[in-house]
Amino acid sequence: MSETKIYEYVWLDGFQPEPSIRSKIKATEDDVPPEWSFDGSSTQQAEGGSSDCLLLPVQTYDCPLFSDYLVMCQVQTGEHETHPSNTRAAAEIVADEWWFGFEQEYFFTNKDGSPLGWEDGTPRPQGDYYCGVGSENVQGREISEAHLEACLDAGIQLTGTNAEVALGQWEYQCFGHGLKAADDLWMSRYLLYKIAEDFGVGVNIHPKPKTGDWNGSGMHTNFSNEEMRSKGSEELFKSMCEKLGEVHQEGISSYGSDNDMRLTGLHETQSIDTFSYGVSDRGASIRIPIYTIEHDWNGYLEDRRPASNADPYKIIAHIVGTLT
Ligand code: MG
Repeated sequence: MSETKIYEYVWLDGFQPEPSIRSKIKATEDDVPPEWSFDGSSTQQAEGGSSDCLLLPVQTYDCPLFSDYLVMCQVQTGEHETHPSNTRAAAEIVADEWWFGFEQEYFFTNKDGSPLGWEDGTPRPQGDYYCGVGSENVQGREISEAHLEACLDAGIQLTGTNAEVALGQWEYQCFGHGLKAADDLWMSRYLLYKIAEDFGVGVNIHPKPKTGDWNGSGMHTNFSNEEMRSKGSEELFKSMCEKLGEVHQEGISSYGSDNDMRLTGLHETQSIDTFSYGVSDRGASIRIPIYTIEHDWNGYLEDRRPASNADPYKIIAHIVGTLT
């Protein structure tokens, strides 16, 4: 008799403008996670009269927490058709030669929704918090570190973390190839929410949780393909920036809701209505990193427009769809 395994199925619901993450657990002797179903009428993915939706496993990860495996799924209708909420399906054009590095920014929050460290009112102005140390400058470090360790144990390539510009705000960088890069980012978010639960803390990925002179949260997206990495030229990189500029509004519509609150032209952003690119320019829509220049125009680009709440499937579908 084979051993029972605990699979934790993770999927995206039908909420708009961005989906939330859902999960449920299956204990089975199956050696691979089987197709499964759920009640789509409870996730805005079906009507009550015909409520079954299907979960198709697409990536399996070792689970560093309670269960044995985390199973990233995409959703189908009960008739085995691509569900309208399934943004992953449109990203299937993204080949493994495309590499992505997502810089996920977020805030840890108290039960009342205020950022960690803001319990006694508005903290000192920004200045000391970015990459800071000491409890007056940093809040939630132990959660960020537990999350990093869990992602690495799961085989998700986090390449770094840092305390961000506002108190209670953090970033991690998540790297991957092709469509799996976006699967990994969604699973890393799932692990972040779940680990924060253990600390009685929430996670807020809204792009501007605090108005005023406080940085918002983005998800700068670094990307490259084979040509950019090894056969690059100034002409190639600038033509890619120009192409993305021609469809700027379409990009913005794929890069997360409420992004107008963040892309104001202040706080290291370009205004949402303007497209620009430039070498080392953190006030541009797209930054050409100094790394790329120093390697004689071989390297990557950084799209600084995506918001922290953006769906990575939509981001990569937009970038690759525009540039191929
Ligand atoms: Mg950052």
